[in-house]
Amino acid sequence: MPGRSGCGTIGRVPDDDAAPTEVCPGCGAVLAPAPGAGPAHPGASVSCTRLFEVTLRGLREEAAADAGVAAVVREADATYDLQHPVPPAGAPRAWRTTIADVAADLDVIDLAVLVGTWRRTVLEDAGAPRRDERYR
Ligand SMILES: [Zn+2]
Repeated sequence: MPGRSGCGTIGRVPDDDAAPTEVCPGCGAVLAPAPGAGPAHPGASVSCTRLFEVTLRGLREEAAADAGVAAVVREADATYDLQHPVPPAGAPRAWRTTIADVAADLDVIDLAVLVGTWRRTVLEDAGAPRRDERYR
């Protein structure tokens, strides 16, 4: 099993160095701790779970009435599950895209597009087999 450890700080560093942060054990997103506890998604930090819920909330409300939106929600759930394995795989992988990136771009890019990009990137990072054969 290719276990690389010892990667201290990966990527994003919070701007406000006085604010406490927590690192998600699944995706490695560095987030401010969520106020109050509440249940976490298995394999994820509470703050990462809350961010995922908040980001997807609007789509979940629309999903009942729109099959296209429901498909995006399923894709987001599957991506999130993939990025937060249970039990956590030791140190978080160096994922290129997390829910924190999706949330950060939400003001300028449509969420359905962001979810599609997130899904593709996570599948590539996870080494999952792809339907097309572009690696040959
Ligand atoms: Zn996470």
